[in-house]
Amino acid sequence: MSNTGTISEPEIAVSLEDVRKTYQLGEPVHALDGVSLEIPRGSYTAIMGPSGSGKSTLMNLVGCLDTPTAGAVVVDDKDVRDLSSRERTRLRGSEVGFVFQTFNLMPRLNALENVALPQLFQGISRGDRRDRARELLERVGLGDRIDHLPNELSGGQRQRVALARALVNDPAIVLADEPSGNLDTETESQVLDLFAEFHGGGTTMIVVTHERHVAERAERIVHLLDGKIERIEELDGVEEK
Ligand code: ADP
Ligand code: MG
Repeated sequence: MSNTGTISEPEIAVSLEDVRKTYQLGEPVHALDGVSLEIPRGSYTAIMGPSGSGKSTLMNLVGCLDTPTAGAVVVDDKDVRDLSSRERTRLRGSEVGFVFQTFNLMPRLNALENVALPQLFQGISRGDRRDRARELLERVGLGDRIDHLPNELSGGQRQRVALARALVNDPAIVLADEPSGNLDTETESQVLDLFAEFHGGGTTMIVVTHERHVAERAERIVHLLDGKIERIEELDGVEEK
């Protein structure tokens, strides 16, 4: 990634302008109710809030998996509304790494093949794809599990495979929805160290969590409540731990 400050490199990775998302299931549900937020390129943001406050809805919009009912979502200077579904897919594939709450691993593929999968459409040779996938699996502590199918792995191990898959293309933006929910303390700290490493390398990190100590690894915490930003807490980021 270039960091020479060319004019074309946007300073803002993601911008939400008065974003609303309403689900119509009998009674309308305002999952997001007027959210405006700018995520600077290379920043590390945590999203917190009670269950149902709109965290996953927000992540799906930022990850171009869904479109808002009203308002603008701008990713990498592109208004997602102006993109065709093919352009949206391409933006998602090249810019965004998504760690889903439900891991979405392919059940018939082993860990290595799952992690290698997103590289398929990037013009990388099979050997290089496998090397890169192996490297990522080693970094998440699964170097000895590369041949295992998802159902031969624990929940925490599956979570780490999903994480390796999200990082394999070195995305500009990583979106993680409760990434440490199923992890033991040691694995969690490995995963958070990996996030810090990617952040240090210039990746924009957005992490949804219920855990205060996970959120405190970020530079700011956006608190959601009932589909609105309740407050934004700036952390000094100097603190060790
Ligand atoms: P969180 O991730 O903070 O728990 P969500 O973003 O998943 O919250 O959901 C916000 C609100 O939107 C909730 O009330 C939820 O029930 C509702 N919701 C989410 N997805 C859908 C959907 N596909 N259809 C209808 N309602 C939904
Ligand atoms: Mg959620």
